[in-house]
Amino acid sequence: MRPAARCVTPSVHPATARSRTAWCRRQAWLAGCDVRYGTRAGVDEVLAEHPDRVIVASGAGRYQPDIPGDGPPVLHAWDVLDGAGVSGRAVVADWGGDWTGLAVAEVLAARGVEVRLVTAAVAVGEAIHQYQRNLYIERLDLAGVEILHHLRPLRRDGDAVVFEHVFSLREVRLDGVDALVVSAGRSGDTALFEELQERGVSVVRVGDALGARSFEEAIREGTEAALGAVPAPAAVH
Ligand SMILES: Cc1cc2nc3c(=O)[nH]c(=O)nc-3n(C[C@H](O)[C@H](O)[C@H](O)COP(=O)(O)OP(=O)(O)OC[C@H]3O[C@@H](n4cnc5c(N)ncnc54)[C@H](O)[C@@H]3O)c2cc1C
Repeated sequence: MRPAARCVTPSVHPATARSRTAWCRRQAWLAGCDVRYGTRAGVDEVLAEHPDRVIVASGAGRYQPDIPGDGPPVLHAWDVLDGAGVSGRAVVADWGGDWTGLAVAEVLAARGVEVRLVTAAVAVGEAIHQYQRNLYIERLDLAGVEILHHLRPLRRDGDAVVFEHVFSLREVRLDGVDALVVSAGRSGDTALFEELQERGVSVVRVGDALGARSFEEAIREGTEAALGAVPAPAAVH
């Protein structure tokens, strides 16, 4: 019998908590969903299934700004969370104040790296719930992570990174940097959604594909879309 729903995914998001992923897998299994791992959904593959409705939850990609200059190597926070090597003294430049900068600072400190967490936000973890933020700040403080606010990276120079105060535009030079780790947010992956819409398919997008957000929002949007509560938007030409 044809399953009521199919889900294709090439991977599990590296940031997704294992226990949450296991719970979601079990729920999908209990619901009789045909889940296909290691499968990338392109327009042709989706159309071959003759779906009545498509929900695109393709997530978001990394945003990596260019930080010019001749200086410390630049690493993306996701690569460091995946195990990329950093030693000595690291500066984490956190643009948005979400989980990523906090998580990467904590992981590096646990590896014995000397960490300065520099955020352009008004407060570290500005974009996350205070209960999570306060616990991160407690752990970072105990791990010896130095926190600086209101600074965005401008350029690299020797063993330094030059930042700019986002309000006063004053330049602030941080010396003694062995690695610059950048966490600059996520941008929605909308290619599949737009291609399907162009082909006249009834399609909605949910989660980070709409723009960076949280697990809770992504799960709620996916649930509502599956229940048919979200009308398919008209194609824009
Ligand atoms: C470091 C980090 C920490 C975070 N911590 C938290 C937290 O503590 N709490 C919280 O609420 N949120 C957190 N978030 C945000 C949360 O991870 C996202 O909001 C959530 O994962 C979005 O879910 P999603 O299903 O929309 O996208 P994703 O979880 O990114 O899943 C999209 C999936 O679709 C797959 N995919 C893409 N294109 C295709 C295709 N063509 N065919 C098949 N599969 C495809 C991708 O490989 C990916 O597996 C964190 C994010 C990061 C980066």
